[in-house]
Formats: sequence, C-alpha cells, structure tokens
Amino acid sequence: MKLSKQMTDLDTFLAYSVALEEEAAERHDELADMMEVHNNPEVAETFRKLAHYSRLHAQEIRDRSQGSDLPRIAPWDFGWETMEGPETADIGEMNYLMNTAQALNVAMGNEQRAHDFYFSISEESPDPEVRALAAEFADEEKEHLALLEKWLAKVPESTEETVFDPDPPHMPE
Ligand code: ZN
Repeated sequence: MKLSKQMTDLDTFLAYSVALEEEAAERHDELADMMEVHNNPEVAETFRKLAHYSRLHAQEIRDRSQGSDLPRIAPWDFGWETMEGPETADIGEMNYLMNTAQALNVAMGNEQRAHDFYFSISEESPDPEVRALAAEFADEEKEHLALLEKWLAKVPESTEETVFDPDPPHMPE
C-alpha cells in the first residue's frame, strides 16, 4: 500500500514526520560540514539554518503530540524506497569533494522529496486532519526549496571550482 494512504491517523503521520525531520537535520549538518571544508561559510550557514528548521519542526511536532504516545518509527518500518527519509540525501551522493552547486543540488533534492512526501499525504490520506497538516508541512518545504534556489542562483558558474576526482570511473581502452 502506498505510504501516503497508510497515514490513517494523526499520530502515525506525526511519527513519520518527526523521523523525517530528525534525519533531515543530520543530513543538513553533514552538508554544512562539507561546505566548511570547502571554505564556503555562507552556504554552510544556510545548511545549518535548514538543520535548525528541521530540528525546530521535529520539536513542534513532539509538542503538538504531547499526551499521545507517538508510535516509534524504526528506519526499517519506513517503507521508504531508499530506507531513508525522503528529505535525506542519498549517502552515495554525499561526497566531501562536492562543490557548492552540487551540495545545493543535493539539498534541493532532499527538500523536493520532503515536499512530495507531505504533498502526496495532503492529497491521499484518508484523514482530513492529516491532510490539512500535511499541506502545511508541504508549504514549509517549498519555502526551504526557495531559499536554496536563491543560493544556487548566486553561485557563479564560471568561478565554480572544478572538482578533482581521485578515482575516476574506468574507461575501456
Ligand atoms: Zn525542509
């Protein structure tokens, strides 16, 4: 069954959302670390900000659900195709050699997936309360995406460093 259709009650939806946001916070922090290696403190700052938003969001969800015990969602229960939350970067794409534009693109991919996750729930959950809240969350993800787009527009392509790949794919001779 599609995940969005399994969001039959508020607690289930909130439990998934907390798991998603906490995981996203970690990924944003990793991207920030990467940008610090690249001496790009401004973009690092943006990723820290997004990590902070995700943590704040997770906390809000926890506060909102106080009194009701949220079911614990283990990663293997997610049913998400990649085994990771939709807002988290694919580990294979996380590379400290990544340049700024690439890091921003990974982050945007994360925000886009988070948006799509919430958006599909806002359309397909059988519970109207869940649908309404998911629509709110989807809008927030859109704001994060807009923030990253602004940064990406500021990366001048001509000055973007070429990334040295010490282990290029093998070319047949
Ligand atoms: Zn986000």
